[in-house]
Amino acid sequence: MLKVGVNGYGTIGRRVAHAISIQDDMKVVGIVKTRPDYISKIASREFSLYVPDESALKNFTDSGIRVAGTLANLMDETEAIVDCTPEGQGEENLPLYRKHGKRAIFQGGEEAAIAEASFNAYANYDESSGKNFVRVVSCNTTGLARTLAPVKDKFGIRRVNATLIRRATDQNDSSKGPINAIEPSLGFPSHHAPDLKTVLGNIDVDSVAIKVPTTLMHVHSVEVTTKNEASASGVLDLWKNYSRIIAVSGKDGRKSTAQIMDMARELGRNRSDLYEIAVWKESVYAAGNTLRYIQAIHQESDVVPENVDALRSMFEIADREKSISATDTKLGIGKELI
Ligand code: NAD
Repeated sequence: MLKVGVNGYGTIGRRVAHAISIQDDMKVVGIVKTRPDYISKIASREFSLYVPDESALKNFTDSGIRVAGTLANLMDETEAIVDCTPEGQGEENLPLYRKHGKRAIFQGGEEAAIAEASFNAYANYDESSGKNFVRVVSCNTTGLARTLAPVKDKFGIRRVNATLIRRATDQNDSSKGPINAIEPSLGFPSHHAPDLKTVLGNIDVDSVAIKVPTTLMHVHSVEVTTKNEASASGVLDLWKNYSRIIAVSGKDGRKSTAQIMDMARELGRNRSDLYEIAVWKESVYAAGNTLRYIQAIHQESDVVPENVDALRSMFEIADREKSISATDTKLGIGKELI
């Protein structure tokens, strides 16, 4: 049973902690919270709470929330830390993990150089095998890598051109915008193209990202020049073999991100999450060496199964197929989604 600590319990941390806690071969020893807010109160019912350092202890005791210790104490009891702190904080935490001899996973907000390998289960599971520091790529890069890795393996990829329509912020965040504006990434490519190469290898890729006022999902319009000719039905059939990709259709009511997330709520999963990448069937177009499709990404949860798999790869607990299957079974991924 791999003993794991989760440092940072926000959008990603709380989901990763839940996913680890329901696996058979790993467990959460504790989570690190900075403030005694409502999330800490609810989390303390399920997990032991730790604080980054002693300066945060008083706030918690004043609020009546029991704290088990500091991050240093948590590290003494764990074999791995999954760092889910805000962008940039992971880099500050790295020396601490090194000092305590702990292996760690970082998230996509950190630079690729923070880790020995960047991770996506479909694209490069084995590259993290035995590594001490691994970075799970961002929600957008995970979405692109998920659908492109099978295409690369089957048809080969000459070039990718991706337009990313990005959600402005997450559901629980009322401090960020835009509220009434559309904000493009200025300059080509956006950071997503180089990030994709960290898991898919040195493919020719360009990307642009456009932020819009929604909190629900990202949408990607992807154009691929394949090495070998592909048909739309051939690509849809190929994706059927990959549980973390689902095909949705406007014909049965799923024509927008709102309806896809409504489907996720109906499925009744933890936090109403949709771990899979949803590709609109009608959007898949192939002619000669050109393939186009449009996909939606639940930014809060698509990286969650990847974090679990990254732990198994790092600690050489299971090979790719076994890990994906174990993670999917526990999270309910791959059940027939209508
Ligand atoms: P978040 O702000 O929702 O959560 C971060 C949590 O860490 C907060 O609870 C914050 O209070 C806490 N924190 C702050 N400083 C800390 C410290 N020093 N020690 C411990 N905890 C601390 O952020 P998030 O959206 O969960 O993002 C975490 C990482 O995951 C980032 O690298 C981000 O880029 C990446 N990511 C985010 C998303 C997304 O859509 N939200 C998707 C994929 C990857």
